Amino acid sequence: CGIVGYVGPQNALDVVLEGLRRLEYRGYDSAGVAVRVGDADSGELSSAKKAGKLANLEKALADSPLPEATLGIGHTRWATHGGPTDRNAHPHLSADGRVAVIHNGIIENFAALRAECEAAGVEMVSETDTEVVAHLLAAAYDEQPEGPGRFAEAMRAVSRRLEGAFTLVAAHADQPDTLVASRRNSPLVVGVGDGEYFLGSDVAAFIAHTREARELGQDQVVEIDRARGLSVTDFDGAPVEPVAYTVDWDA
Ligand code: GLU
Repeated sequence: CGIVGYVGPQNALDVVLEGLRRLEYRGYDSAGVAVRVGDADSGELSSAKKAGKLANLEKALADSPLPEATLGIGHTRWATHGGPTDRNAHPHLSADGRVAVIHNGIIENFAALRAECEAAGVEMVSETDTEVVAHLLAAAYDEQPEGPGRFAEAMRAVSRRLEGAFTLVAAHADQPDTLVASRRNSPLVVGVGDGEYFLGSDVAAFIAHTREARELGQDQVVEIDRARGLSVTDFDGAPVEPVAYTVDWDA
């Protein structure tokens, strides 16, 4: 339902929670966050998620805080597949815990993909249509050669296999400065700040920080990287120039 992503010098958790508060108007039944912690070459993901209001998540985070981080994602969920429980809340992690995914929309062909993951030995921990994406993305990433663009290429490979409606944002434990996102039949905007980037299901997610926005078109993948900046492609990897605009409404 509501999506926020951040990479930059600020405390990622603060930015992500602030974005989620601004997306509350959309309605939701659960909320969750994940941050990437550790140094450049040995990182891990740390996450928390709770059914109910954002206040429940904030209480859980107060009781057991996540480490400081410069990359994070957050989600408010409106359940479509699987009840509104802690376990079904997003982010969803891959079995190895290296990939975290948040999702708006519905993956129509999730049952077939779920069966495929299960046949490969993955044990599903939620009842959502979303969880398969985390497992597929982790596998696709491992198949890609190392180097810049690896994560985005994995996201493109997975996106080509998905049917339905999705805005997806993903973090990887190996990627200290990079988030990738994808969209089909569901909105995704990028906020461009000074040495920082934001992802949102709408501009409310980052309006407190920047007014410079880029709108993604149908069937596109974006990579935001603190050093390399912003790059958008279609699902086959052809570069696309996103539509740039300045948000002019009052925050
Ligand atoms: N279909 C997903 C779920 O039920 C995402 C729902 C949403 O858009 O929040 O978990």
